[in-house]
Order: sequence, then structure tokens, then C-alpha cells
Amino acid sequence: MDDRINRRDVLKLTGGAASLAAFGTVPAKVQAAAPMQGVLRPEIYRFKLGAFEVTNILDGIVQRPPYPTFAGNLPAAMVEELAKANGVPGNNYEQTYVNTIVNTGRELVLFDTGNGRGRNPTVGRLTELMDKAGYKPEQIDVVVITHGHPDHIGGLMTGDKPTFANARTVFGEAEFDFWRKGENVREARKANREQFMKVAVPLGDKATFVKTESEVAPGIRSVPSFGHSPGHMAYHVESNGQRLLIWGDVANHYIFAVQRPDWPGSFDDNPDAAVASRKRVLEMAATEQLAVTGYHMPFPALGFIEKSGTSYRWVPATYQFNL
Ligand SMILES: [Zn+2]
Repeated sequence: MDDRINRRDVLKLTGGAASLAAFGTVPAKVQAAAPMQGVLRPEIYRFKLGAFEVTNILDGIVQRPPYPTFAGNLPAAMVEELAKANGVPGNNYEQTYVNTIVNTGRELVLFDTGNGRGRNPTVGRLTELMDKAGYKPEQIDVVVITHGHPDHIGGLMTGDKPTFANARTVFGEAEFDFWRKGENVREARKANREQFMKVAVPLGDKATFVKTESEVAPGIRSVPSFGHSPGHMAYHVESNGQRLLIWGDVANHYIFAVQRPDWPGSFDDNPDAAVASRKRVLEMAATEQLAVTGYHMPFPALGFIEKSGTSYRWVPATYQFNL
């Protein structure tokens, strides 16, 4: 309370309110009611990582039932129970698609390319939002592809031209070879393979291929995490001692895949290897207290992994990077 208001003023003020209430008179409204504006959600988030700037951009969202996408070999009730225990509905969830741009000061590095336009009206917004975030597609120096699934390679081409015209592309070598050769592609991924041949293979001539752990740009190195796809790569980014793990699709949901890394996901091409990679990367993130950004984590998709017993929890970042 303002010191200048004395006790008598307070009595006068409250007395005034009381008398208004007593007579049931409310002053007539002099302006129109504010219109409803619709839901407003964050879709661009930028933070500093040492001397780097990192921008997360929401390419889009789809909503769908979590079962049997997660734990399809177990009773549906288990998925529902875990959802409810975490305060979210068990019959519907949001799949977010989050691209990351790292400006190292020398190079602008884009991780994955979104779904591309036309796949679904609620996705494919990467380039539109890049513009809002201050970046033009032709400014991108390096496009790093974590793996060859449609939501990651869908934005590589616009029409039949590379969207990021001046960029070199980085692929995991095992990943690129798997899709290019086309052997043992499971039925559900046949269309995916066709898309890869169309949008990714033509970029192979100007591409860099990584086999194991190697540096793809100063401060950025690959972390092999095969399983979700045959040659899936996560990436570790470090500047001035600050570290960030861009884990791609190591875990595809902040509850189902993080708290139950054993649960198979229908998106995982090699389920056993996917589980092993998920556990290894979660353990590393928890032990090393790494900041993590994940392609399918809730926007702004920045958090930490906390170990709890034999399980893990996704802990969203708060102001760690603002201090
Ligand atoms: Zn994905």
C-alpha cells in the first residue's frame, strides 16, 4: 500500500465500495467488450548457449491418440494410466515438430527441415517462422539431418529446388546408405523411401557424411544413436563450456518415451536398438546434467533429464539460459 494513503482514506474507499454493493448499482460500461482473440501459443524461442545463439522453431503440431503408437504390445490401459498420472489425457496427445537453428557466429546451422508444405495444414511452417525469427533460407550454411523420416526431410526441397540453396547437407552415412539402397525397408516406410530418393539423394553430391562421433561444424559433433532409424544421429553442441544435446527422435514423447524408455514406439524402425539408444542417451543426459532439445518435446522443447529410480523425467528448462 502507498504510505500516503492514511487510515481515513482506506475507510472512505471501502465504505464507498460497500455502499455501491448495498444499492446494487454498477457503473454502466462505457466501452465494448474485448473480443476473444483465439489461442496464442509460442512458436519461436531463442536463447544463448555460450557465444552461440540457438533458436527453436515450431514447424507444426498434430493431435492423435497415443495408443498404439506407444507401447502397442501392451494393454492400452497402461498408456492411459501413465498419461493420467502425469496430468494429461490418455486418449489424445500432441505431436510437436521442433527445428533448431544454431548460429555459431561463423555458420548458421539448421537441424532437420520440418515436414515441408502440403503434408498437413497444421505443419510445414518452418520457413515462414524462420522469416519471423530473422533468418532467410539462403542464409543457412549447413543443414544437419538427424535421420531420414518424412517429418525431418520434408522441407529439404521446395518444388524440385533445394530450399536451403547455399547449404551443404550433413547426413549420417549409415542412414543415407540405408534409404538409398532400399534393402529391408519395412512396409510402413515404403513411401518414406520414395520420398528420400526424391528429396535427399539429389543432395548427396554436395553432402558431408558422418560415420561415428565426429565434428560437423566447430562446436557441433554427432552422437550415434541408431535404432529409431537405422543410422539416427543426435548432436552435441558446446560453446564456452555450455552444452546442449539435440537428440532428434531418441525419445518421441516427454512422458511415454522418457519415463518408459523400454516401451516400443511404432515409429522405431529397429525397436531393440531404439530402446538401447534411448536408455543410453537418457542416462548420459541425466548423469551429465545436459540441456536437451528434442524434435518432439513440448515447445519450446528445451529441458533436462532427471533420473528417478530406474526411470527418467523430462524437466522443462526455466531461466537457466537467461542468467
Ligand atoms: Zn520425428
